[in-house]
Amino acid sequence: MAEKTMIVIGGGLAGLATGCYARMNGWRVRIFERHSTPGGVCTAWKRGPYTVDGCIHWLMGVKPEGSMFRIYRELGLAEEDRFAILTRYVHMLDEPSGATVDFTWDLERLAEDLHRVSPGDRRPIGEFLEAVRVARGFPLEMLKPRDLLGPLESAATLWRMRNALQRMLRFRMPVAEYVLRFRSPVLRRMFEALFLPEMPASFLFLALGQLADGQLGLFRGGSQRFSELVAARFRSLGGELRLRAPVRTILVERDRAVGVRLEDDSEHRADEVVSAADGRSTLFDMLGGRYVPGALRERYERWPIFRPIVMASFGVADAFDGMPHARHLRLARPIPHAGSRTDSLHVRVVNYDPALAPAGHSVVQVLLESDWDWWEKLRGQGAAYEEEKRRLAEELLDRLAPHLPGLRDRLQMTDVATPYTFWRYTRNHRGAFEGWLPTPEAVRTGLPRRLPGLDGFRMVGQWVEPGGGIPPALAGGRHLVQRLCREEGRPFVATVP
Ligand SMILES: Cc1cc2nc3c(=O)[nH]c(=O)nc-3n(C[C@H](O)[C@H](O)[C@H](O)COP(=O)(O)OP(=O)(O)OC[C@H]3O[C@@H](n4cnc5c(N)ncnc54)[C@H](O)[C@@H]3O)c2cc1C
Repeated sequence: MAEKTMIVIGGGLAGLATGCYARMNGWRVRIFERHSTPGGVCTAWKRGPYTVDGCIHWLMGVKPEGSMFRIYRELGLAEEDRFAILTRYVHMLDEPSGATVDFTWDLERLAEDLHRVSPGDRRPIGEFLEAVRVARGFPLEMLKPRDLLGPLESAATLWRMRNALQRMLRFRMPVAEYVLRFRSPVLRRMFEALFLPEMPASFLFLALGQLADGQLGLFRGGSQRFSELVAARFRSLGGELRLRAPVRTILVERDRAVGVRLEDDSEHRADEVVSAADGRSTLFDMLGGRYVPGALRERYERWPIFRPIVMASFGVADAFDGMPHARHLRLARPIPHAGSRTDSLHVRVVNYDPALAPAGHSVVQVLLESDWDWWEKLRGQGAAYEEEKRRLAEELLDRLAPHLPGLRDRLQMTDVATPYTFWRYTRNHRGAFEGWLPTPEAVRTGLPRRLPGLDGFRMVGQWVEPGGGIPPALAGGRHLVQRLCREEGRPFVATVP
């Protein structure tokens, strides 16, 4: 039988993973990526001896016994001892009250911190910790999509998940609503700042349960290395990765996607076309909006996407030994920024990986939510854009100084990425770095991966997985090829390098 062919648009992690699994199952695959490096938003860039790591703060499913780990292994990510287990998710500090909470895997210590901040919240704190304990055993089933599970597999999975599932279903409400059961405004704000106020509260328990279970980790070598390894796996399987190859149009003949036209006007044909690129440009530009049903169009109009961020990174000749690797600061005095004010800074001290900062040095990185329109407008004003980046960096250094003594004196590098930078790098709509916000509605409803009336076309990646994240991007590629194999009546094969 002649080898079937596949074109994948976008060489981010979802596109690369799809390519790997399609190669394992005999498709001839070409990935067209518009950028000069693979990996999409999972990237990093060098600044002198420092690496500005643009992505991985924590990864789910890093325990070797888990189903996600098998996917890491299949994609060439686990050949060496690459995953470092996290014992703390974040250290929270509320400047106005001086309250601190260490969100650690030690639930006894976490309980002490929470009770110290709010002795009057004994009951909801107990309920919260109990939910985290139950979620600790929640098996993340990543290997197969739900629609491919047979009745027996479904029943077995539901049985394994039954305790955690019951509780998760009870806490489907957004975090912003869940936190109202705490009397302390400080605790309320801390829980909202842990992840996102819009996401289902059950996600809090799931993520902290994973932490307590030793399943959250970091990747030694950082985000760029992570992407390079998956790209290397794709190439070693015989896949073709074309960089600097932006796709302009998806070619359609008689309601079947038959290939792509690149910006350079070259045309390329394949049996299957998969888009792993920004959802909006796929549907409305590359396909001209022709196959978008009303319900999907409405989601694109109404559903919120991740608020864009500014990421400021400072290279410092100080390891800041003993400092938590991740902190959340609620500032006593908000920072004027992007036409508004923000009092919430997420701070990383990257001093744990020689690939990212040399020994005795660190990269201090600050993430803050921002505004797309404001930065895009400023971008058109030349020098004003650079001046604002400088001003913001100075302001952030001032605000961090009390928490990281010596920061300014030993500062060697400053790098500021704006929402515009994220857009320029990946073309993700309005600089949204992780796709759709995982609101309860988005998580419940999901997004179609195929379009009615259009054969030979599928979507994968963070624009069809509300909440985004690396595990869904990688597992989504596996699921796509599993579905294709099922439709073609052949067994799905996954190999380990
Ligand atoms: C700052 C930051 C922190 C994050 N932290 C974490 C974390 O700690 N843990 C975690 O699990 N996840 C994290 N994420 C999210 C995670 O990295 C993403 O959800 C995931 O990598 C998305 O992969 P993707 O392949 O779906 O999309 P993308 O990475 O956006 O890939 C899409 C690719 O398509 C390409 N493309 C677009 N248009 C075209 C075109 N016309 N032609 C050809 N190619 C095109 C783009 O250049 C890009 O390479 C973070 C993301 C960011 C930005």
